[in-house]
This record gives sequence, structure tokens and C-alpha cells, in this order.
Amino acid sequence: MKWISHTAIAAAICAPINPAAVPAACLGATAPDWLEWVERAALGHHVKHRGHTHYLAVWLLVAAFGLFVWDFRGWITWFGLGGSSHWLCDALTIQGVPIGWWSDRRVHVFGGRIRTGGGAEFIIAAMVVGIAAVVTWQTGAGGFLPFFYHWGGLYDQGIIDGIEWRAHRFDFL
Ligand SMILES: [Zn+2]
Repeated sequence: MKWISHTAIAAAICAPINPAAVPAACLGATAPDWLEWVERAALGHHVKHRGHTHYLAVWLLVAAFGLFVWDFRGWITWFGLGGSSHWLCDALTIQGVPIGWWSDRRVHVFGGRIRTGGGAEFIIAAMVVGIAAVVTWQTGAGGFLPFFYHWGGLYDQGIIDGIEWRAHRFDFL
């Protein structure tokens, strides 16, 4: 999938749960792809696309590390969950993705019929964003819009109260 879809999906899932962790989730959601560039630039060798940066097992381990060992402000968990969401989205596509280092076999979810960059990809991304918006609205969780995560963070920390947060959450700066 394209970065825009990965980012939108991760942000939509993360924002209602932990608005302050949205940047970490977005970073994680694109990491399997940009890590390939970083590795290529740093080590100067060819990196197979959708190879070891796309192992589901690795991303789940990152999330588990965040959950059970050390989670800097919730960012590590969400970075790992973001990477896992990337895997799930790529698994919907024709190319598929590997599960872990023990097998290079590509796995598909729901038949893997989505073409990267195709219309269906954006419909799925829009659906996830739409569902997250409805869930947020229904539960009154607020903080859905990822651009205002810093206000959500202040709210989490009890620095500002709910009313103030609602008043400011549409401020752009
Ligand atoms: Zn990818």
C-alpha cells in the first residue's frame, strides 16, 4: 500500500485510543518501507522489498516490548502496532508479506486482491478512517483529529481539563 493509506489507517486507529501517540503510530506504519531505504543507504547493499522489514513477528515483538518491558510515553507500543498495521495492509495486496524470519513465503489476508495504489486501497483507508470517526463520536472519546494530538496529550496528563481541550482541539497551532 501507499504511505498515505498506511498513515491514515494507523492514525485513525491510534487517535481515539491514545492521541499523543499518533506520530509514533504513523512513523511505525511507514517504517517497514522507509527502513528499507535507510538500510540500503547505510549498508549500501540491495534490500529486498517486503523482506525482513515486513516481518509481522518483528513488529509484534516491538509492540510486546512496549507493552511489557519499556514503553516511552506509549510510543514504542504504538510504533510496533503501526508496523503491524502496515503488515496487515500489505497483506491485503497481491504481493503479500512474510510472517517472520523462518519463512519467506508471502502471506495474504482476505485473498490479497488489492492492487497497491488502486481505488480499493483508498476505499479501505477511507473506511477505516470513517469507522474510527464514528467510534470516536459515539464513545465521546474525542481527539480523533491527529493534528491536535498535543492537546490530547495535555488532556491525558491532566494539565488542561476537558472543556479547555474541546475548545482548543480545532486550533491549528
Ligand atoms: Zn510495505
